[in-house]
Amino acid sequence: MNIAVVGFGVGGANILKTIIDHKNYNDKIKIHIFEKNEELGVGLAYAKDTNYKLLNVHERYMSLNLDNPNHFKDWLKDKNKDDKKIEGMVPRIVFASYIKDTFGKYMENENVIFHHAKVKDIYKEGSTFRIVSDKGNCNEEFDSVFLSIGQSYYKDSYNLKDYKNYIHNPFPLNEKIEGIKDGQSIGIIGAGPTAIDIYRYLRNFKDVTYPLYFFTKSNGFSPIDIPYYVDDDICSIDEKWIEENKDYDGFVELEKVKKQIKDDFAKYGHDLTDTYNKYKDTDINAYNMALKENDLGLSFAQTYTMQLTGHAALIYNSLNGLDKLEVDNNYLEMIDFIVTKTPTITMQNIVEDYHKAKIKVIKGTNDVKVDSDGKFVVTSDNEEEIKTDVIINAQGFEKNLLSAVNGDILLANLYKRKYIEDDVNGKFIRVAYPSYKLVNKKFGLMENFYLNGMWAGGTDVLNNDLRSIIKSGQLAAYDFMDKI
Ligand SMILES: Cc1cc2nc3c(=O)[nH]c(=O)nc-3n(C[C@H](O)[C@H](O)[C@H](O)COP(=O)(O)OP(=O)(O)OC[C@H]3O[C@@H](n4cnc5c(N)ncnc54)[C@H](O)[C@@H]3O)c2cc1C
Repeated sequence: MNIAVVGFGVGGANILKTIIDHKNYNDKIKIHIFEKNEELGVGLAYAKDTNYKLLNVHERYMSLNLDNPNHFKDWLKDKNKDDKKIEGMVPRIVFASYIKDTFGKYMENENVIFHHAKVKDIYKEGSTFRIVSDKGNCNEEFDSVFLSIGQSYYKDSYNLKDYKNYIHNPFPLNEKIEGIKDGQSIGIIGAGPTAIDIYRYLRNFKDVTYPLYFFTKSNGFSPIDIPYYVDDDICSIDEKWIEENKDYDGFVELEKVKKQIKDDFAKYGHDLTDTYNKYKDTDINAYNMALKENDLGLSFAQTYTMQLTGHAALIYNSLNGLDKLEVDNNYLEMIDFIVTKTPTITMQNIVEDYHKAKIKVIKGTNDVKVDSDGKFVVTSDNEEEIKTDVIINAQGFEKNLLSAVNGDILLANLYKRKYIEDDVNGKFIRVAYPSYKLVNKKFGLMENFYLNGMWAGGTDVLNNDLRSIIKSGQLAAYDFMDKI
């Protein structure tokens, strides 16, 4: 039997481990890995780069063993890596060593065959699958395919890709950002985690011409991480809670979920909506106050939503259709806002630079054009035109499948074959829950054809998070391995 895993970031590596550890695994099963990059197991997030590319979240939420939240923490201690932290956070290249340590023995298994290739097409032939890559047609037939292709590509909303001094994909930082010349004025499009990585690198390694601009559509930076020192589980909603609260029809009422969250917050004297309203304008001064006053309401909400989102897919897919709609319209954005944090020390630096007018956040950006001198001209709702020599892109990834089919050959071919279709208003790819099998109008449920990661985000909500990637890969791999 042949199994194909397409994409070998941490998601693909975890699928490999789950297959090999499964009780039904045997020596006759060959696992073929297709990965276009040289470095295995890391994807874009943890690929070789500067030490200053840091994890966004604390070690507790970065365990590769879902049964043991301390797995990464203990590994750091065992390997004497605790002192490698920068601005209080672990470098992503240290996390890459942890990935390689954890998955290394599976990668060395003699039944695992690596193909250093970019997959361009996958098609069904009878009950098996064929794979075409940039190296040609693979001779093998596959009984099952796991797509673990992760993030798509960075968006280019202002069509700047062909211009000099536009840095479309900022990673690796120590190559792309390093190339900026002293004296050049710089604008960053975005203020999310990628923009934070860029800022940190510039601040520590480059002689920046100030002010440094951040151009955003509406929001500024994510809220400051207020450290919370109580490690106890404060969120009552987990797998057990969902099971106990299911109705006769298998759904959990949203009202019950909301009440439990409200009660959990009230127990400690906090309220999620109040906290969201306090910070949703992304005001840097408000973040500064939050740190000075040690706003426990914010820190509680951050810790709570971190725990809650560890079960996001399960909760979301346990709701009935109308309740799901209500969550889409009223709650997903709020939870995503609170759970996404700017590391504490980094935000302290931002506050300091902001007060010295070294950085400027321009909200309401409308357009970015290039003038006859090759300078970037940025227009926004509230400011006069701003000109910069360099623009660094940190807009986030293309999540719209109908756009991505123009930029990704594999997605284009799968869409043409009607194996994949968009899930939510053109975004994401439809998969079933909890199997993560592809679903479409032509073939229905695609047996033995799985997808996890960013593209499954309409089902696996809030999945820009290691824990979701690990959990979804396990569920998909169990679905296949349980039945062989
Ligand atoms: C910059 C960045 C920082 C992040 N930081 C954190 C963090 O601190 N904490 C956290 O929990 N999460 C973080 N995330 C979220 C992150 O998405 C997950 O933690 C995780 O890395 C995703 O793993 P993945 O395997 O699904 O995707 P990826 O890591 O994107 O891996 C997908 C792999 O598939 C390969 N591939 C794609 N298409 C093809 C093809 N056609 N043929 C062959 N190979 C292909 C790619 O080369 C890549 O190696 C971060 C994400 C990014 C982008």
